[in-house]
Amino acid sequence: MKQFFSDAILAWYHQYGRKTLPWQFKKTPYKVWLSEIMLQQTQVITVIPYFERFSVRFPTVVDLANAELNDVLHLWTGLGYYARARNLHKAAKKIVSDYQGKFPTSIKDVMSLPGVARSTAGAILSLSLSQHHPILDGNVKRTLARHFAVEGCPSKRSVENLLWEFAEANTPVYGVQHYNQAIMDIGSMICTWRKPKCKICPINISCNAYTLGRQTDFPSKKTKRKLPEQDICFVILQYANYIWLEQRPTNGLWGGLWCLLKIKEQNIDSFIKTKLIGSESSNPEYLPRFRHTFSHFHLNIMPLLFKLKGKQAFIGQNEIIDGNRGFWYNLNQPAKVGLPTPVQKLLEHLTKNS
Ligand code: SF4
Repeated sequence: MKQFFSDAILAWYHQYGRKTLPWQFKKTPYKVWLSEIMLQQTQVITVIPYFERFSVRFPTVVDLANAELNDVLHLWTGLGYYARARNLHKAAKKIVSDYQGKFPTSIKDVMSLPGVARSTAGAILSLSLSQHHPILDGNVKRTLARHFAVEGCPSKRSVENLLWEFAEANTPVYGVQHYNQAIMDIGSMICTWRKPKCKICPINISCNAYTLGRQTDFPSKKTKRKLPEQDICFVILQYANYIWLEQRPTNGLWGGLWCLLKIKEQNIDSFIKTKLIGSESSNPEYLPRFRHTFSHFHLNIMPLLFKLKGKQAFIGQNEIIDGNRGFWYNLNQPAKVGLPTPVQKLLEHLTKNS
């Protein structure tokens, strides 16, 4: 079975596997690392332009380490899960300080980099250097769980361990780089969550879930918990083409990104009294509310647009507010700073309407 499984996947790779993605040309551990981190929770089609911009701006790991975090977050804007960008930057600095700027090539060293767990380390070293390591990202977990009819939820340690055993037992030494690429591709293109395309799957002959007609029973889903909600007002202070933004503290939500002022709805009046000068500023325009969903909660956003008579109408001008730095963002000449996705959307809306 083991031989058939990997042979079938390798044969599929040679005919249908992805071979022309930007990080697949002249593969290096650095390029594969960038792509693997970007691909976490994100689709290939979305990642491609980000990867291309990143590789032009930071062609080597040393360039990335020497960059300002702000530059890195700016290029990451819109990709979400910003901890990935902060970890990339930290890891690049570690590679420069601990490995003289050369990407490490042992699995233990790669796994010691911030933001790199076992599966990502295995993908980096197998795809770029053909080292023999199994991988187990979300797509591979689903494919293996179905093929071997592994009961239970992969978020349980015992189930995950069992899946690692299947991954280890079936990853071939010869052609490991093609096999690992192919099993990820099969997971994302064929063995999809809702409607797996079993008829065209190269391992359907031996697939237990397919034989049993129970494809969508595997892997068991996590019991869905209702996400908590948080309500927040985004205060948009606009003077001509300028919008006031502040940098979030490095740790925590949107760490290091530039954000609109956030206040609670019940504090709007006191904000107007204490921070704004001039009657024209005291009647905000209520823009449509919208929701931004994180993996662990929903953020319900109410944007309030205050049109100021002048920059000086806002007391925070050029000041440090609540320990954070602030600046006037020019809608016509956007500064190269990292922005949370909902802030970026609002700024785009304001640019169109200014
Ligand atoms: S046969 Fe169907 S369920 Fe089994 S691995 Fe292939 S796509 Fe997934």
